[in-house]
Amino acid sequence: MRDRTILIVGGGIGGLCTALALAKSGWQVRVLEQAPQFGAIGYGIQLGPNVAPMLAHIGVREEVIAASVIPGNVWMFDAFDGQPVTCVKTDAAFARRYGGNPYLVVHRVDLHNILVAACKRFANINLDEDAAVIAYEDHDDHVVVVTQDGRRVEGAIVIGADGIRSRLRNDIMGASDPVQTGYVAHRTIVPIEKAPKGLPLDDVVLWGGEGFHIVHYPLRDKTMFNIVAVFETQTFAEKMDVEAYRAELDRTYAQSQPVMKEMIAMLDLERRWPIGDRAPQRGWSKGRAVLMGDAAHATLQSYAQGAGMAVEDAIVLAALIDDCDGDFSAAFRAFEAERLVRTARIQLESRHLWEHYYHLGGIKAEVRNAGERARSHEEVWQCLDWIYKGAHVPEKGAVARYARG
Ligand SMILES: Cc1cc2nc3c(=O)[nH]c(=O)nc-3n(C[C@H](O)[C@H](O)[C@H](O)COP(=O)(O)OP(=O)(O)OC[C@H]3O[C@@H](n4cnc5c(N)ncnc54)[C@H](O)[C@@H]3O)c2cc1C
Repeated sequence: MRDRTILIVGGGIGGLCTALALAKSGWQVRVLEQAPQFGAIGYGIQLGPNVAPMLAHIGVREEVIAASVIPGNVWMFDAFDGQPVTCVKTDAAFARRYGGNPYLVVHRVDLHNILVAACKRFANINLDEDAAVIAYEDHDDHVVVVTQDGRRVEGAIVIGADGIRSRLRNDIMGASDPVQTGYVAHRTIVPIEKAPKGLPLDDVVLWGGEGFHIVHYPLRDKTMFNIVAVFETQTFAEKMDVEAYRAELDRTYAQSQPVMKEMIAMLDLERRWPIGDRAPQRGWSKGRAVLMGDAAHATLQSYAQGAGMAVEDAIVLAALIDDCDGDFSAAFRAFEAERLVRTARIQLESRHLWEHYYHLGGIKAEVRNAGERARSHEEVWQCLDWIYKGAHVPEKGAVARYARG
């Protein structure tokens, strides 16, 4: 069985982690990535302490931690009064609470390079670049994926790790677009010396106001400063010039703290990302094809857990494929049963936080602030335990147990 190739469409964080987890158990894996090179856009990413144990399964935990900054705190500040709203202490006691696993912030390029290098160490992983998949065919005992340039690639099964705009999702779950929030993000990295003075530069910070937020944190041994500015705009679906983007940002952040305006002035406005997600939905697989990561359950960034969920999916899906004795569709059903509630809770709570927590002004913000400022660090940790204590990785026999109900 293991000499039959497993095809993975998409070489993002989810696809590469799945390739590593399968290859470790001896499966032949082929990853088809549409981009000319396996890589990531060059901004930061936060990884909660639920991610490091998953990275340990694929042998890259220490390397990723070494490439990361471990912040002492994750703050939220009110963008109008400039005062802290809440703080997740991410110190040594935090790491102890979560099994010795720290909170990490890492450059996406560094994370990707670690995953690609790890894949290259496995002779049973093939990485195909410039391979945009446009369709797949299910032939009952095998699948064939078809690329834009006419290649036909055969495998035992296909895993759709092709992101929020997944092509495979259309075939498996029916065609639909992501749900747009009307918000967009601009992202920038500058040398840390250019960061505005007086900010907690060692920490992750979110400044929230009505209709906008800014997140910043250090990267690469604290030599770089990552800024993400997110705001609501009628023009979220339009491509405009830099001057028009600048005018929108100046209007949006006019009432915010001076330090936020300093960060806005530093943004690279060449590119912006419309922010969307998916509603939780069942039916992640059909026959010999299954979806994972953003393709199955894309979420808003409120918990900074989209990639975290993709990494967890990778380990769980590989464990179930390894356990299914050739009954792949049983493994896929077990995968959805194992992962649906956790990922749906992330999606639903992220929407709630987006609308009713991060982006408030006026009395609503005052009510939020009063409640949050009264909470202890322990209470804040307790609220996050369900995410940070991590995912269940199924043991041998799990597929059969799920099949019996
Ligand atoms: C502004 C912003 C900030 C975020 N911050 C965080 C954070 O701090 N922490 C966190 O955990 N998450 C964060 N996320 C979410 C995170 O980026 C995603 O959840 C994560 O990248 C999903 O991984 P994935 O592998 O499922 O999909 P993707 O990363 O989207 O990878 C999909 C891959 O598939 C390829 N592909 C797509 N279609 C095809 C095709 N037809 N054929 C071949 N290849 C294809 C793509 O090129 C890509 O390489 C953030 C997202 C945004 C927008």
